[in-house]
Amino acid sequence: MVESPIAVGVIGLGTMGKPMSLNLLRAGFPLVVHNRTAGKADEILAAGGRWGDSPLAVAQQSEVVITMVTDSAAVQDVILGQKGVAGGVRRGSVVVDMSTISPRSAQEIAARLAEQGVLFLDAPVSGGFAGAVQGTLSILVGGDESAANRVLPVLQAMGRNITYMGPSGSGQVTKLVNQILVAVNQSGVAEALVFAAKAGADPGKIIEAVKGGGASSFQLENQGPRMVAGNLAPGFMVKHMLKDLHLILEMAEDICMPLPLTTLVSQLYRSLAADGKAESGTQAIVTVLERLGGQEVAHPRQQ
Ligand code: NAP
Repeated sequence: MVESPIAVGVIGLGTMGKPMSLNLLRAGFPLVVHNRTAGKADEILAAGGRWGDSPLAVAQQSEVVITMVTDSAAVQDVILGQKGVAGGVRRGSVVVDMSTISPRSAQEIAARLAEQGVLFLDAPVSGGFAGAVQGTLSILVGGDESAANRVLPVLQAMGRNITYMGPSGSGQVTKLVNQILVAVNQSGVAEALVFAAKAGADPGKIIEAVKGGGASSFQLENQGPRMVAGNLAPGFMVKHMLKDLHLILEMAEDICMPLPLTTLVSQLYRSLAADGKAESGTQAIVTVLERLGGQEVAHPRQQ
């Protein structure tokens, strides 16, 4: 007997949620979506998705409900708030939050949904907008393992490297570790490129010269050329990085873990927000190092 495909709901059709939803449709999942700003659903509806009037309405029609919104408060809102997922979700369904939020919020939501017989997974992602479009996201899953196995075909439509990390919250802890690596490495790339320019070298040529060796990294290869071209378009917005750095430093305080490098680079990203660049891509960190060094890497710069 051929099993009918899992009915999936998605709430949150921003930079990430929209391409992830398109991949779910391409993989053949019946899809119902909701977004606070309704217009962002047009492309999904044109591709065969259905509209749900609220997170509650989406949950009523779905076996797997995915949330992809900004932060802990937004996830709590769409799941536990008025007309939230919790009001409509069926017993036995699985709610999968793929946003980056605090591990503690994930655990609280899991406990709250468990009271009504609903399993909750934290499944944040890495790989950015390009990974969301190409369906190659890394997905870091925490929560009940049997629920994680059940939703695996759904996650496989959006990602490639899907890892079960352990109990509730451990997907989010893994994502915070990922963000320490991204923020510190990306700032290092920016510092190196400004140094190169000030020393009279060609930063673009330097990237080509060193990227095959011990200095190679995703940040050098992907964000380095954007820094050199002066392309500050998002991708991943500075304001979201600041949110993640805040979550990291908050948890570091809870567990008494000094994070000297992350603390320093968090101040550099904050100065971008102070400079009106909260909605630029995080590669804009190069402009902070440029200001410090009195040296530009790229001309002309696009906002
Ligand atoms: P985004 O483009 O800013 O989209 C945010 C989405 O959340 C929008 O659909 C927005 O609705 C919705 N939203 C925000 N607050 C809400 C609320 N209170 N109630 C209901 N909906 C709300 O963000 P994104 O880049 O897609 O990121 C989503 C999540 O993925 C974040 O946690 C981010 O840290 C994480 N992430 C992003 C990337 C990346 O490269 N962009 C990579 C990995 C992880 P409206 O359309 O109405 O504003």
